[in-house]
Amino acid sequence: LAKRAGKNNFKLFSDEIKEKMLFEKNIENELIDAHRDNKLHLVFMPAYCAETRILRGYEILLRCPSLLNVGIGPDVFIPIAENTDLILAIDLWVAQQTVIRLKEVIHKNRFTGFFSFNVSSKSLRNDRFYTTLKEFINTSDINPKQLELEITETCLMPDDHQAVASLDQLKSLGVRIALDDFGTGYTSFGQILNYPLDTLKIDRSFVTDLRNTPVGQKPTLDIIFELAKAYQLSVIVEGIETQADFEHVKTLGCDIVQGFYFSNPRTWTEVLKHCGKLHQIDKRPDQQKNIAC
Ligand code: C2E
Ligand code: MG
Ligand code: MG
Ligand code: MG
Repeated sequence: LAKRAGKNNFKLFSDEIKEKMLFEKNIENELIDAHRDNKLHLVFMPAYCAETRILRGYEILLRCPSLLNVGIGPDVFIPIAENTDLILAIDLWVAQQTVIRLKEVIHKNRFTGFFSFNVSSKSLRNDRFYTTLKEFINTSDINPKQLELEITETCLMPDDHQAVASLDQLKSLGVRIALDDFGTGYTSFGQILNYPLDTLKIDRSFVTDLRNTPVGQKPTLDIIFELAKAYQLSVIVEGIETQADFEHVKTLGCDIVQGFYFSNPRTWTEVLKHCGKLHQIDKRPDQQKNIAC
């Protein structure tokens, strides 16, 4: 009987693997089609100055409409794309779109904020990513300082000289580099100083934890925030969902905040509307310092 059960378990296990492989293959094919047919889509998550709530910029987030229809977002499809060569094509498409759209809001609305986009570690290490981004920037006449690349700690393995070289090369283009999901990886904090970073984005799981921290206990968010501040980098806290979250991060002295409490990701039409408003605020000298990057 035990033998039979073992056999059944094995069958169940191999069925599960087959199912997972099929699921991933379907997603990969869906992404290949969407990329080829120009059906990928972008949404724009606003980021605000914590003190004044003035818009500072947008994070560009990828959507694949046909996958979204079945509830699949980038958290699921990006890791699948990362296992194939598709990720470079996708990251380059996002980079190109980001530059084109940044150019549009600079010209239409005299936008002075930043546009940031996510880059996979696999793309970061590929020389084609650097050469193509360079071409996009050089042919667009945008200010590269308004462009920020978000990388994750998987890009920063200990003593990874290639990663440092790739980042230095990208930095030489004049763009800013943000470390995304800060606090969730395994990089030793001292290691961070080896990399040419401008911004640390504290992972939203620390904001979620904040809500469950017993009174009288120091929230992990505060500890991570103090560490981040010690590097004298700009700090973004993401995942602010409630007024209490916001009040808390304000007491920490956070620079920039993002989260559903302020806004859901916006469509491009909405961005154009809001960047127009930013332009009006831009003209008020007392608030100028809050929006300049
Ligand atoms: P991320 O870069 O850390 O992006 C933040 C994610 O948190 C986004 O989910 C955003 O919609 C969500 N978010 C923002 N504020 C809140 C909040 O207050 N509460 C909650 N619960 N969520 C919030 P999204 O768009 O599903 O992206 C998930 C991840 O997929 C991103 O995490 C990023 O790692 C990856 N990703 C998204 N777009 C791209 C892309 O163009 N290229 C690459 N390589 N990765 C991407
Ligand atoms: Mg990000
Ligand atoms: Mg993040
Ligand atoms: Mg993430």
